[in-house]
Amino acid sequence: MTDKPYVIDQMISAKEIAARVEGLAREITAHFKDTEKLIVIGLLRGSFVFIADLARELDLPVEIDFIEASSYGNATESSREVRILKDLRGEIEGKDVLVVEDIVDTGFTLHHVLHLLRARNPRRLEVCALLDKPARREVDVTARFIGFQIPDEFVVGYGIDFAQRNRNLSYIGKVRFIEPPAEG
Ligand code: 5GP
Ligand code: MG
Ligand code: MG
Repeated sequence: MTDKPYVIDQMISAKEIAARVEGLAREITAHFKDTEKLIVIGLLRGSFVFIADLARELDLPVEIDFIEASSYGNATESSREVRILKDLRGEIEGKDVLVVEDIVDTGFTLHHVLHLLRARNPRRLEVCALLDKPARREVDVTARFIGFQIPDEFVVGYGIDFAQRNRNLSYIGKVRFIEPPAEG
């Protein structure tokens, strides 16, 4: 599957992303304006570019932490089993927390992570997702802050991978498989 040739058709430009990230940061800053400190938690690995840009636009005292959950493996199909591969370094009890996710698809990953974090009794727990695919939802979860709603397409770029590739694209594009050139 991975070695099938493909091209990437741009869906959201770097400029559009930057403008939306600024807007999201304003919404989040307003929402948490009275906070002592906001713990911004990135879901590895897909959110690493997004969290870097978003965090720098937040006009709040911020602490950054990461959690890694497995969902996709190397395929494009979501698995229902969610495992925590790397937990937070810090405590979140009584703290204001923002979970930063790349894509909410079926919702299984976010549902699992929120369940885990809620059990640690944060003061406030909100989610910011860069992309939302509402058509794919199988579990009832929503992010309060959403960058873009997108149709049911497999996307890459801006931190998001296809079998670990294409994370370094500055834009978001959809994967389109092409026929390999005929031999001879
Ligand atoms: P969910 O548990 O909501 O089905 O899946 C969430 C995770 O699956 C996302 O955080 C993301 O890592 C991955 N995912 C969902 N849709 C896509 C997609 O279109 N492209 C890529 N590369 N990953 C996706
Ligand atoms: Mg993710
Ligand atoms: Mg992935």
